[in-house]
Amino acid sequence: MSSRKEELAQNLALVEARIEGALAQSGRRRDEITLIAVTKFFPASDAMHLYDLGLRHFGENRDSDGAQKSADLPADIHWHFQGQIQSRKISSILGWAQTIHSLDSYDHAEKCSRFLSADDLEREFFIQVNLEPERSDRGGVAKPEIPAFYESIRKLPHIKVSGLMCVLPLAAEPISAFSDLAKLVDQLELPSLSLGMSGDFEAAILSGATHIRVGSSILGSRPDPA
Ligand SMILES: *Cc1c(COP(=O)(O)O)cnc(C)c1O
Repeated sequence: MSSRKEELAQNLALVEARIEGALAQSGRRRDEITLIAVTKFFPASDAMHLYDLGLRHFGENRDSDGAQKSADLPADIHWHFQGQIQSRKISSILGWAQTIHSLDSYDHAEKCSRFLSADDLEREFFIQVNLEPERSDRGGVAKPEIPAFYESIRKLPHIKVSGLMCVLPLAAEPISAFSDLAKLVDQLELPSLSLGMSGDFEAAILSGATHIRVGSSILGSRPDPA
């Protein structure tokens, strides 16, 4: 094994051990959790190592990076897009990402709907929740507006909303913020919750997350974006 692959294998084992700890505490099963390796700004060779180590879910924040990596890597990878959506990039994003975690505008949902067809049955969308509405640069729909937003986009053809996604504000207390979102997802009768990053994925699992998006705990501290 190359030393980089060795390092990734060790990091991944530590992440899996943390996941197991949270599962044991919450009485949940490993197959209830999808671990997404966030490979943004890391080379495709790192994603390939992780593929060899058994991972099949990868997340990217930029359309250009996701398009490139998905073309370079095996076809049975499930790609997740979790960056801010730009309207002019939508058709390209839908060309490689099966799951979009960052839907936050009706116009974008409507545009996605127009690009998708009835055979896109696997495509899933998460609505991004913004818990700091005073910071609109973060992306996401403010929590009180989520039910109405969901009602408006669920009627669009081919837009299958599976749940809510959130990036926690630094000041938030993870368990309480995540549990609030879990209640909201129940209320909306949606099946999935994309919560939890390197620093807080145990709290996310304890609160009912179905998808965790883990970057630095697996790949190390991120290089500067190219
Ligand atoms: C970068 C990023 C992650 C991964 O963050 P880490 O703290 O490195 O695990 C998860 N979700 C989103 C939306 C991100 O932008």
